[in-house]
Amino acid sequence: MKIRLKDIWETAVNLLYPPHCLGCESSLHRQVDQYLCGGCRKGITYVQSPRCPRCGAGLGPYSHSPEKGCVYCKTVRLRFDGAFSAVYFQGAVKELIHHFKYRKKEYLAGPLTTLVYKALDIGVPFPENPHWIIPVPLHWRRKVQRGFNQAELLARYIGKYLGVEVLPSNLSRVRDTHSQTSLGTSQREENVRGAFEVRTPARINGKNVLLVDDVLTTGLTASECARVLKGAGARMVYVLTVARSVGPDQEP
Ligand SMILES: [Zn+2]
Ligand SMILES: [Zn+2]
Repeated sequence: MKIRLKDIWETAVNLLYPPHCLGCESSLHRQVDQYLCGGCRKGITYVQSPRCPRCGAGLGPYSHSPEKGCVYCKTVRLRFDGAFSAVYFQGAVKELIHHFKYRKKEYLAGPLTTLVYKALDIGVPFPENPHWIIPVPLHWRRKVQRGFNQAELLARYIGKYLGVEVLPSNLSRVRDTHSQTSLGTSQREENVRGAFEVRTPARINGKNVLLVDDVLTTGLTASECARVLKGAGARMVYVLTVARSVGPDQEP
């Protein structure tokens, strides 16, 4: 049997730093999953149909299809044509996204997009196929701080999965925005207004765009991106995120 240097190295690293679940920190020795224990994995909740036609929130079995929006979005004006999120932003998903964004674990883009593929099992959930995938951009200062734009990494995986090309730098964030957590709806709208710009409108003129981000909270950031993209000629703008926060006050 050939012993590879890489295997010896990996075994040594595992002995020194035994793998722990990123959801609850329990030991992952003798478990197949590299990131989550069985319990945390079971706790992941997929957003189920019926979904709100405007914001993609799960509506539960007893609600009607509300044209004017569900409890999460009826008070906000959303400029995109539909949204879809794979799972709820809670428990292990919240931890994974936190590790991904703030602890520089870029490799988690893979496992996180696997959740999206599972949810997209039935195909693209929008009336028309997208021509481009565009990640929600980060301001350059934040991108330097973090080392990467999490939405762009996710977009690249999703683009490959759906067979749609990614356009990473046409939509840019020209103004850094404050954290939205402590702001009310109208302040949030004000906060993101004018934060984005399209560099080359000709590339998206008449095209359908699938906007990708990690979490959809109020939808106002994605909505502002959609407003700017449509102003530049985009025909339809849909939003796809890994997670959907349950209520408007939860934000990563
Ligand atoms: Zn766990
Ligand atoms: Zn809604």
